[in-house]
Amino acid sequence: MDLDSKKLLDELNINHSLSVEEYEYLLKNADGELMELAAEYARAYQKQYYGNKVFTRGLVEFTNFCRNNCYYCGIRRDNNQCERYRLSKSDIMECADTGYKLGYRTVVLQGGEDFAFSDQDVCDIVRSIKKAHPDVAVTLSIGERSRESYQAYFDAGADRYLLRHETANPLLYAKLHPENLSWENRMTCLKTLKEIGYQVGAGFMVESPGQTPYDLAMDLKFVEEFKPDMCGIGPFISHKDTPFSKEKSGTLETTLLCLSLIRIIYPQVLLPATTALGTIHPQGREKGILAGANVVMPNLSPVNVRKKYTLYDNKICTGEEAAECVNCLKNRISSIGYEIVEDVGNRAGF
Ligand code: SAH
Repeated sequence: MDLDSKKLLDELNINHSLSVEEYEYLLKNADGELMELAAEYARAYQKQYYGNKVFTRGLVEFTNFCRNNCYYCGIRRDNNQCERYRLSKSDIMECADTGYKLGYRTVVLQGGEDFAFSDQDVCDIVRSIKKAHPDVAVTLSIGERSRESYQAYFDAGADRYLLRHETANPLLYAKLHPENLSWENRMTCLKTLKEIGYQVGAGFMVESPGQTPYDLAMDLKFVEEFKPDMCGIGPFISHKDTPFSKEKSGTLETTLLCLSLIRIIYPQVLLPATTALGTIHPQGREKGILAGANVVMPNLSPVNVRKKYTLYDNKICTGEEAAECVNCLKNRISSIGYEIVEDVGNRAGF
């Protein structure tokens, strides 16, 4: 193990802060032994704040219409190979009910930026879910909106909002998105969400096209400074019908290292072992938990639409019913000594 990396890791474990250059050094020089040590430190915090409990979020992918054209994403507007769908309010309610029966106490409504769902529609859906299941947290993940819209959803009862920052480097952001999307607006949205009072999820893709270790180091620094309640990270995975179809996907190793470092940087953070991680390796999510993650986000969408919500190629869990996903995940999580719990799953200390 490189001794300077070990020194930096130990320093991080004490101060929960490094400079961008130091994060970069760690990312560039980590070998297997250092990664295992980082995971060990990460698991100590995971144990301290969450025990061996793993929280679930039931994910309802309610629309794949999107006005945006992000170069990496399979449901980008210009992908005319993508068969579009929208769930009705009653479909969504049914998913939430199914999720509740299966023990989920968080519903995540995720979609493309589809303005066919007006603010009133979104508020109406949020209100109905909260009315049917007062002990369920509702999370929205529907992209960039105005402060007024975010406030309206919050007033209707939405508890949390997921909006990955995608990258903390504005220059890389500009390479991953068309000109009409700005890093500044993304950041403004995240700050607004926090001000309104949501539990906020930020996050980034690991090894997206053109991303350097310095860029990733900037993401770690961003997590250290912004302290999102949740941080969703997963490897970039190419999608065949996007401008990035020929780009290399991110690796398991770098993603696991980032998970461990994020847990050490912000010990209480909610950290999902994502579907993308499960897609690049058959035991990706289990390895994610062992690297410090404490959340899994099984799919609750109706099986007939799942294959249509393809953000990247070979996405897992697109053929099973919700109940099968629960059992599969329960087994996976207990196989590594952890336990899925029926809990609203707030961030420790929130
Ligand atoms: N439209 C919403 C959420 C849908 S996409 C929003 O903008 O927030 C959810 C996340 O999937 C994105 O934030 C992105 O980080 C990730 N994603 C999209 N395409 C991907 C790809 N090709 N590989 C890995 N992750 C991807």
